[in-house]
Amino acid sequence: MTIYSKSVRLLMRDYVAQKGIAKGQTLNKLDILAWFSERYPKIKEGTINAHLILMSVNAPSRIHYNVHSTGEDDLFYQLDGSNYRLYDVSSDPRPIYIVSDHEQDNNRLTTAPTYADDKLSQSTQISADSSKTNTDSILELLDDIYPDAYCDDCLSKELSIRPRQTVNKIGRILTTTGKTNRQSGICSSCSKQKIINSLIKQNPMRPSQKRDAVHERPMVVAVPSKILANQDFDVEHARTEIVQICHQLWNVHNKDAAPRSISALIISLRNDNLLPTLQANMMLTLCGLRNVYVYDNKKLGAMETDIGKNALSIIREWWTNAQK
Ligand SMILES: [Zn+2]
Repeated sequence: MTIYSKSVRLLMRDYVAQKGIAKGQTLNKLDILAWFSERYPKIKEGTINAHLILMSVNAPSRIHYNVHSTGEDDLFYQLDGSNYRLYDVSSDPRPIYIVSDHEQDNNRLTTAPTYADDKLSQSTQISADSSKTNTDSILELLDDIYPDAYCDDCLSKELSIRPRQTVNKIGRILTTTGKTNRQSGICSSCSKQKIINSLIKQNPMRPSQKRDAVHERPMVVAVPSKILANQDFDVEHARTEIVQICHQLWNVHNKDAAPRSISALIISLRNDNLLPTLQANMMLTLCGLRNVYVYDNKKLGAMETDIGKNALSIIREWWTNAQK
């Protein structure tokens, strides 16, 4: 049953038409949600979020929503977690419909749940959100261990992603989108001969320096915010600063090792009320910007840099006060 006379798929196209969205123009999720909430208040936010994933040609988890390969679902190109532009058939990579299945793993994608259009509701919201987080977590862990490689089992275990097939699916999508290598080899964690995943760095930044920063178990040392305040914005440096803050928070309250994925760590700290939601969101934004820079080889423009700078200021202001 559809609440309104048109499906959300069609309403999404109405949004684009009514707003007169031009090629290349950036669309923010908040604006899309506001448009729906004003005109179609009965449609749940989770439903709209799920449709944004479904209708983004490059969103790996769209395959969980019974995406049509006829082109009718190909409307957006996802820039990050909350920004989109129109899909450009002439220059964008081919839309993701289904992942190739040439590997020996027998996990068929046809077993993935499919949802009818009008059932894209709350129940699917959770899986969509966690799928996005899982993808980020896997990339971040592979980044952390770079240039080493992990098998699906070890990724699943270390990141607590269950069932293991979820890792398998994401791993294969990441390979088809050119972000990771997936081949037979020795897993750096369990040392078994397996299919292993490793990160392809599009935009490697001072790998030795970065690796040190991430691997170092931070002692309780104040982050030198003042020293950095007047320098040009460096997204990698900002991310390192966030990693340090998060590890500091984690070490005060936990005995076991912190999650290796920075997103997972931020979310865990937020869920334990050790990190305010706003600052956690700013951290996720910054890490997202940095991931786009490193994994997708996208240069940060002036606007992205401003977002990064401001997000970092919000985090530093809170952190300075939190340490008093
Ligand atoms: Zn392993």
